[in-house]
Amino acid sequence: MSDNGFTLWFTGLSGAGKTTISHILADELNARGQKFEILDGDIVRENLSKGLGFSKEDRDTNIRRIAFVADLLSRNGTPVITAAISPYREIRDEAREMMGDRFIEVYIHASVDACAERDVKGLYAKAFSGEIKEFTGVSDPYEEPLNPEVVIKTEEEEPEESAAILLAYLEERELIPAAVKS
Ligand code: ADP
Repeated sequence: MSDNGFTLWFTGLSGAGKTTISHILADELNARGQKFEILDGDIVRENLSKGLGFSKEDRDTNIRRIAFVADLLSRNGTPVITAAISPYREIRDEAREMMGDRFIEVYIHASVDACAERDVKGLYAKAFSGEIKEFTGVSDPYEEPLNPEVVIKTEEEEPEESAAILLAYLEERELIPAAVKS
């Protein structure tokens, strides 16, 4: 049984690239025969956190639930990728404390301007017009990580490059098997 459980904890603005990068990593981990789970913020909010809103209290509850599940899985040897905004430092630090060395904080960085330009889900337009309230980075806080293990700059990198940086980091720490040479 592998005891290589870890949690790759993505944090960053909506549209920064969390889901995109997690999908590329998923393909690569599958190709290497490495088991894992993904806890994507949007999907968790439709299931485990259904009914929660975007007040600070509800956001904290949502992130604590994600941390709880990530801890359960990772301590049993299943690597986890979490892809939720997780805007508050205090709750991320709680997750770090819970998981210790298994917790790898990854700041998926893109500026509000870049995310608004991408506007993948059309949410920034609604946030700027006031149609959506409490939108992270526009009308709600985002607290940057102070000491993340990895910083990914999606305004400067292609998604595949960002994923490659993370794979190299995990390989370096011997948490995943190396790529199979073709
Ligand atoms: P999030 O999950 O953080 O809300 P998404 O992954 O849904 O963000 O959207 C990110 C957008 O940014 C996508 O349209 C993606 O193609 C683009 N993008 C540009 N560069 C990168 C990169 N290096 N990594 C990830 N996404 C990127």
